[in-house]
Amino acid sequence: MFLTISTTGTPERPATDLGFLLHKHPEKAQAFSTSYGRAHVLYSEADAGRCTAALLLEVDAVALVRRGKGKGRGGAPDAALAQYVNDRPYAASSLLAVALSSVFSSAMRGVCNARPERAGQPMPLRIEVPALPARGGPELVRRLFEPLGWAVTVDPVALDVRFPEWGDSRYVRLVLESDALTLAEGLRHLYVLLPVLDDAKHYWVASDEVDKLLRAGEGWLPDHPEQKLITSRYLSRRWSLTREAMERLELVRLAEADDSEVEDIDNAVEAESETEEKPTPLAVQRRDAIIAALRTSGAARVLDLGCGQGQLVHALLKDRAFTEIVGVDVSMRALTIASRRLKLDRMGERQASRVQLFQGSLAYTDNRLKGYDAAVLSEVIEHLDLPRLPALEYTVFGSARPRTVLVTTPNVEYNVRWETLPAGHVRHGDHRFEWTREEFRTWADAVAQRHGYGVEFVPVGPDDPEVGPPTQMAVFTMNSTVHKKEAKAA
Ligand code: SAH
Repeated sequence: MFLTISTTGTPERPATDLGFLLHKHPEKAQAFSTSYGRAHVLYSEADAGRCTAALLLEVDAVALVRRGKGKGRGGAPDAALAQYVNDRPYAASSLLAVALSSVFSSAMRGVCNARPERAGQPMPLRIEVPALPARGGPELVRRLFEPLGWAVTVDPVALDVRFPEWGDSRYVRLVLESDALTLAEGLRHLYVLLPVLDDAKHYWVASDEVDKLLRAGEGWLPDHPEQKLITSRYLSRRWSLTREAMERLELVRLAEADDSEVEDIDNAVEAESETEEKPTPLAVQRRDAIIAALRTSGAARVLDLGCGQGQLVHALLKDRAFTEIVGVDVSMRALTIASRRLKLDRMGERQASRVQLFQGSLAYTDNRLKGYDAAVLSEVIEHLDLPRLPALEYTVFGSARPRTVLVTTPNVEYNVRWETLPAGHVRHGDHRFEWTREEFRTWADAVAQRHGYGVEFVPVGPDDPEVGPPTQMAVFTMNSTVHKKEAKAA
């Protein structure tokens, strides 16, 4: 199986930069062993004007069978010979996608130290896949690639050129062309869509495939019109995984719609505060209140759940009392920004060992969240639909169970004090609800009761005698007898 990637260039921006971007030198033919055979990378042309890299995977049909995964769909009993004689060596399938991601892993992530400025820029690209199995036909190929900005040429391959009356095979020759995409984007499209079109994954689909799909789909899958088909085929039609992926994509979409507004609202709040002799912005007051409560609790290892763009993580890092800080968010985009802002890649080893960011959804229990001293949910709960709140409650209070949990949320009563907020409006387009002090207390008391915690309430921002503070914070502390018992059991 085989594909080529070409670009064109000028003397100032030579096409041979493709070699830097792919991390493969144009003058060398290189081979790599992968789980299913040898992958070769070679260039058929390489000058300033044009450069073409080819990826060729020599599938080891015997290895494929030994691994017990060459049977194809259903593993029919008469498939003994079909195990060895099948299209796998020739057709671009999930095997090629796996080879692509292992041979071009840095390029797929958009990492290029030699030409960092080019890695992030769209470039002229032409990708050709001579034999692509296309379940769903040329029409589906178009529906998958065209919304991503590709000009698509798809020619059906005849079953046998000597006998045109036999009609077409299920293979097509695919050419994708664009100058609006980065190389990393192009590779990620292929990584997901080759197996989708082949629709016969060679390996068992485990639950980390959902993570892989969301990572490779970052920036394009949440808005793709064929998202459901892509997700379901990529996950080999395992409905539970497909449902999880679809839900997480929906959350990503909402969170991203969101993020772009987060700064706006903080700025708006700041601008508003400016009329009153420059007091500290509310977002900063919130952060200070959280850090003070964490210090009082004696926590050293802290989770920031729904960390957004990492402002709190950043502040916690400055305080030596916190030895380990983990930011979790459902939005890959928010995490990318957080990582850039924290300069994670340039941090010294000591600092870097104190901080971690990962993607996850609070609507699902997650063992990675266990064993911390404290968890912060700063302005997060109001982003979930009310019916999902019990799932978040279980993830945090039922499963992760840190000794201290801090939850902040807007106090809706205070909204009448924001001059720029029209009456009856919430503060943020994505807030699913905003609670009165009474409503928040009722929820928090019940949560504490159900899970063996005590809870206290702390106002954040000016505590108005009539309507209360703009932000309300609940400080949950696990009952000491429960804590002792659990600490002993652990
Ligand atoms: N904690 C930050 C960001 C609040 S905005 C702050 O105080 O400024 C809400 C954040 O919650 C967003 O980054 C959004 O992506 C995240 N979020 C929303 N639903 C989530 C979920 N189900 N799981 C994890 N994070 C979620």
